[in-house]
Amino acid sequence: MMAQYIEIKNANPDSILFYRMGDFYEMFFDDAEVASRALGIALTKRGKHLGEDIPMCGVPVERADDYLQRLIQAGHRVAVCEQTEDPKEAKKRGAKSVVRRDVIRLVTPGTLTEDALLEPRQANLLVAIARGRSAAGGMAFGIASVDVSTGAFAVSEVAAEGLSAALARLDAAEILVPDALIEELGPPLSETRAAVTPVGRDLVDPARAEARLAAHFGVATTESFGALTKPELTAASAIVGYLERTQLASRPPLSRPTREGRGAVMEIDAATRANLELVRRLSGEREGSLLDAVDSCVTAGGSRLLASRIAGPLLDPAAIAARHDAVAAFVEAPDLRRSVRSALSSAPDLARAAQRVAFGRGGPRDLAAIRDALAAAEALASRLGTIDDAPAEIASIAAALGAADHALARELAETLADELPLLKRDGGFVRAGCDGELDATRALRDESRKVIAQLQQAYAEATDVRTLRIKHNNVLGYFIEVPQAHGERLVKPPHVETFVHRQTMAGAMRFTTTDLGDLERRIGEAAGAALKLELDAFERLAARVAESWASLAACAAALAALDVTAALAEVAVAKAYVRPHVDDSLDFRLEGARHPVVETALRASGKPFVPNDADLSAPDGGGGLIQLVTGPNMGGKSTYLRQAALCAVLAQAGAFVPATAAHIGVVDRLFSRVGAADDLARGRSTFMVEMVETAAILNSAGPRSLVILDEIGRGTATFDGLSIAWAAIEHLHEVNRCRALFATHFHELTALARRLPRLRNATVRVAEWKGEVLFLHEVAAGIADRSYGIQVAKLAGLPNSVVRRAKAVLDELEAADRASPVERMIDDLPLFAAARKPPEPQADAAVEALDAIDPDALTPREALEALYRLKALRKD
Ligand code: ADP
Ligand code: MG
Repeated sequence: MMAQYIEIKNANPDSILFYRMGDFYEMFFDDAEVASRALGIALTKRGKHLGEDIPMCGVPVERADDYLQRLIQAGHRVAVCEQTEDPKEAKKRGAKSVVRRDVIRLVTPGTLTEDALLEPRQANLLVAIARGRSAAGGMAFGIASVDVSTGAFAVSEVAAEGLSAALARLDAAEILVPDALIEELGPPLSETRAAVTPVGRDLVDPARAEARLAAHFGVATTESFGALTKPELTAASAIVGYLERTQLASRPPLSRPTREGRGAVMEIDAATRANLELVRRLSGEREGSLLDAVDSCVTAGGSRLLASRIAGPLLDPAAIAARHDAVAAFVEAPDLRRSVRSALSSAPDLARAAQRVAFGRGGPRDLAAIRDALAAAEALASRLGTIDDAPAEIASIAAALGAADHALARELAETLADELPLLKRDGGFVRAGCDGELDATRALRDESRKVIAQLQQAYAEATDVRTLRIKHNNVLGYFIEVPQAHGERLVKPPHVETFVHRQTMAGAMRFTTTDLGDLERRIGEAAGAALKLELDAFERLAARVAESWASLAACAAALAALDVTAALAEVAVAKAYVRPHVDDSLDFRLEGARHPVVETALRASGKPFVPNDADLSAPDGGGGLIQLVTGPNMGGKSTYLRQAALCAVLAQAGAFVPATAAHIGVVDRLFSRVGAADDLARGRSTFMVEMVETAAILNSAGPRSLVILDEIGRGTATFDGLSIAWAAIEHLHEVNRCRALFATHFHELTALARRLPRLRNATVRVAEWKGEVLFLHEVAAGIADRSYGIQVAKLAGLPNSVVRRAKAVLDELEAADRASPVERMIDDLPLFAAARKPPEPQADAAVEALDAIDPDALTPREALEALYRLKALRKD
């Protein structure tokens, strides 16, 4: 056996091997040590290898999912090795022969399908990247992604600069990276939470990509998938190859790869996503993120789709408007919205259930989930059919729901029982009355049970033991139990003829009889036959599901889209969001805008949120405006900045926005950075990070970008920081020319408005009341008269003596500051020194006089006089 183990382990060196032995998965050697530590289970020993004890630990097969999840979460991969023949077969080959075993599946973070291992409301993506020559010329990255738990498969291509943002958006569980690229890629990989799996040339091979992909889908060529570029093909085939290698017993069904054109979605890099807390907080949890604030979906599939829409807002105004149209239809029809949401709430997770069944990993409850989801789809299709002039999105959802496999729904409804076991091997899931043979076998089984009851009564009478019972356990099967005192009689004539002694317990004795043995065999056969019939029925239904897989996937997608649309309408109504106008202009105007998360939090504690306007629209087609926001700490600057960015994300994701009016010219790239002191969560040398990230923005933001810079430059000494912030604003204004919001505590920067025509000063207003500050959270044009730092400090409870002393010091400093160089600098400092012409040389009398002298023509006396003259000129 150990020889077999070692052979299989050597073939799977990167995985912990779950080696099936009876009812346990056993682990040996290093695997056992690693797993016992990770799972907190006992480490034991079994036999010896090369003279040393072999460490061993094991987990029961019944509870394997639980342990698998913990190992996967701890970053391990697990190879599941099963017995592939009946141990009786092995015995036939000889007493010492070993049962055949094989790895049937490698469990990796990106290939999970079990509900127990997955977050219901989060996609679980396996992503592959490949580099190659793009059709447009130049090198590009192909990105393929698949959610193995649903079969959704997509490909896209990005330029090298876009890789990081694209990976951040996908938020994969596992990324397949060609060996050759691992070191080179660095940050785009380390910024994700994904497990990185290096793959060799055999999987990422452009020469074989087309053939492998075509073979997987059973087509002659992949042309019908749309014109996939070379890097896209290579990445997609790496996914297919990896699934072939890890999912050995059966392959997950996959949709044909859908291709997302270049530049279809807003580019948002990892730092911006983290910073704006789009789908999770900086601390990692979903609660408190933008997604959480606007997710009122009633199905898991809906929540997953919404997450992907928020992560990838669109750029095409027509596509965005189509989503807004659909949301608007539900905003305007509250009854429809309610009935649709209530029907949806009875629809289970169709995508994942259908995938498991088609994949050979399903159970009776997955079939029931398909049944219920199809029933909901049918009801919804007819409900949506009643809408006049339905917007295109709703019409296409209704069409997809109407086209669902309703025959399958009826078949499932007829076959499945009301109460269902988790596992098919437990039986009992086929409804009585739908299969005559099954009913007859079950009757036989149940009949025999009645016979047992009769037998018990007969034996009780014959032996005169009223407490005689026929019982069942897994070791003995059926047996007769009597109290000890009576048992002594049964081992003597005449009863000993009938009763065969099996076991003596404390206070009881156990027997069997020939009749009971016969009966037991008959019951066992009937139960086995019934189970076999049920399993046959399951396989027939599973085959039907596999056949209809594509249509079930389409139905699941339509249910998810409907859920998202109705849920966004629900949020829009409940929280007073408005339909934004999104177009190709460079406008950006929000009226009465709020921060969706802060507003929700304040509302929960009964406090009002103060709405604000923002206008960054480019004046007459020129560059965008930059709004410079100053004001005291805690005044609401960061909130104001972020709400603008979040409104852009929501609007382009197809949602309504927290405002009373919104006009947004499509934002193609979104950048957000926070000064180092706020940025504790990323755990790197913070000022360096801040500067690296600011550099990235200044180097790449374009005219359609929206840039949010919050207190950049505060991670270093005042003058350093001020100078960096100053230069960054000039660069944004002159070079990037994008729409931008810049919050700062450097009041000196407000003077820049005199020089930069598209810079606007704004300030968060505060009121003073008996020496205390009151934050109004109102953003108004203009400049804060002072920074109120001392008042804020006082609010925070600094000792009075310290506050008084700080005031005195401040007065001194302010007096000195009136002679400050910054005021002069604004006019003296050249905007773009490099771009400006060098200053005209000033006429200088001494130099002119010097030029006029011809040394060879001078007498010694004249030379001396010239020297005196020059010296005198220099003095003037
Ligand atoms: P700053 O960046 O100026 O220091 P923040 O934006 O961090 O200020 O806001 C500080 C706190 O003020 C927030 O946590 C929030 O509770 C509150 N706040 C901010 N803006 C508003 C607003 N518009 N209405 C109500 N409360 C607000
Ligand atoms: Mg702030």
